[in-house]
Amino acid sequence: MIFLNGKFTPKDQACISVMDRGFLFGDGVYEVIPVYAGKIFRLSDHLTRLQNSLDSIQISNPYTPEKYQNIFDQLLEQSPNSNQAIYLQITRGVDTVRKHSFNELTPTVFIELNPLIPKTKTELENGYHAITHPDFRWERCDIKATSLLANIIYSQQAKQSQVEEVILHRDQIMIEGATSNVFTVKGNTLFTHPTGKHVLSGITRNLVIESARHCGLIIKEVATKIDDIFSANEVWISSSTREVMPIINVDSKLINNGKIGQHWSQVYDHYQTIKNA
Ligand code: PLP
Repeated sequence: MIFLNGKFTPKDQACISVMDRGFLFGDGVYEVIPVYAGKIFRLSDHLTRLQNSLDSIQISNPYTPEKYQNIFDQLLEQSPNSNQAIYLQITRGVDTVRKHSFNELTPTVFIELNPLIPKTKTELENGYHAITHPDFRWERCDIKATSLLANIIYSQQAKQSQVEEVILHRDQIMIEGATSNVFTVKGNTLFTHPTGKHVLSGITRNLVIESARHCGLIIKEVATKIDDIFSANEVWISSSTREVMPIINVDSKLINNGKIGQHWSQVYDHYQTIKNA
């Protein structure tokens, strides 16, 4: 069952209009919210970011936090105590003619659950590969928008290159991953680009920073050169479905001789403590 516009429906029977602006323009926003053992993780942070995304594109939030919670609870009843990723999408709604500008419409709300199978620490300890690429996305990457053409191109490139992620850079500055935030560690310091128009305010990013601080790392939210990645002791990516993942190879060059860093291991452990609290 999925939730679409007030109704719980089997997914193969759920329909939207061809005039939905999400279909026509990708005119909408979304969230992916992890659920661990039936408990929704950091719901209020996700709903706050959803509100910011909606405000940025002038869509009125159709539901209260209580209503979202209620819908999620009903969907989660289908598979209690499991790990899931809630996908929540809100588009501007159904228009009468296809035109770029808009009048206020009734937003389309689509919510579904997908199984979430976080990698074990042993799996993660194998390390992951990434490639770098200039960032050709737009100037509002702070909005979690459903129009994701650039990200689709990068993800396909990652798939074809058999790597986990594409790390983006602008003017020689490391920005973020195509679907994640990026961190480098040098000595005892953790570096990540500040959030803003080029970097999404990742919910996991905040938790990684909190965990790193707990583990005694110095946190620097500053711009760093993309080439610094190759002399970093550790490189990590973070997202709600991948948590914090060690990268040991970028553009076919080994990071830290291909060895997993000790800081990653400690931060990963603390992240699990927060998750299971
Ligand atoms: N940056 C981008 C471009 C993303 O697409 C994502 C997640 O999808 C993130 C960062 C990480 O955000 P979060 O930790 O909230 O999942």
